[in-house]
Amino acid sequence: MQKLTRLLITALAALPLQLAVAADNGQSIDVSPYKNRIKLPDFTATACPNTPRDLVQVKGNLYRHTTGAGLAVHSGLVLITKEGALVIDPAMACTSTWLYNEITERFKVPVKYVVYTHAHADHISGANVFAEHGATIVANRRAVEPIVGEKIDTALPTRVFDEDMKITLGGETVLLHHVSPSHSDSMSMVLFPDYKVLQCTDVCESKTMPYNDLLDFYYTGWIDTLDWVAKQDVEFIDVGHYTPATKADQLALRTYMVDLHQQVLDLVRAGQSWDQLYRNVKFSPEVQQWTGFNNMKMANIQGMYRWVENHRRGVW
Ligand SMILES: [Zn+2]
Repeated sequence: MQKLTRLLITALAALPLQLAVAADNGQSIDVSPYKNRIKLPDFTATACPNTPRDLVQVKGNLYRHTTGAGLAVHSGLVLITKEGALVIDPAMACTSTWLYNEITERFKVPVKYVVYTHAHADHISGANVFAEHGATIVANRRAVEPIVGEKIDTALPTRVFDEDMKITLGGETVLLHHVSPSHSDSMSMVLFPDYKVLQCTDVCESKTMPYNDLLDFYYTGWIDTLDWVAKQDVEFIDVGHYTPATKADQLALRTYMVDLHQQVLDLVRAGQSWDQLYRNVKFSPEVQQWTGFNNMKMANIQGMYRWVENHRRGVW
């Protein structure tokens, strides 16, 4: 009995110390009901030995992982601390084992957290590897339904939040913020305040056209999100693709989105059909220089046209 009491006291004494090491104010969710959920084949899982991959220092303990090349690059930030690592969006199952090994062997720390920026398969695939090694998967609560509903073959979040979440790891602070529906309704911005670095995946751009027909798109929330980004004290923004960006790039993107929206709205209100309308949208000389302009311009008009058509009512 005495031995048991001693053990109990020792365990209790160790508790606050453990809490101080890695802590977060998220909420745990029970994913056991989804244990046997149906999953579609993971399109990122086919072996890809020739796909470029990298993990490079941004500043201090903050790194950026990339997988793919050119326009196919997917990226996410990685925080390395003495208590363990935090990884944002592993992105591809075929390179996630490499990323896991690179972190654990190069820095000799476990991966404690994987954060999902949003529930799109091209960013969150590959997290199974990290979950199997004990990483906690974090996402906005709204990410759970589409991962299950779209049958995405990746680890489900077990720790979620609604508006804001703070993770403390190895003395470093990571802030997660849920922004308005913009690119999906499960978006998390991930802020590293000590580094003035932000993860703003798929909503922010680096002198690059927004992807295709703006899939899973909410215009008003996109602008709200860019306005939120403008207020943050950040110097380096990882956009989940291509190359890192600045706040000035996001201001240019906001100008483009507002202009595209206004042009399409004006043309629709003038009674133009799609066949007339798409011929009459103009792009600024700056936007015409952006990466992917020729491939994406028509699809961007189409995505905005769909939004406008669904969010107006004339005199009828
Ligand atoms: Zn996306």
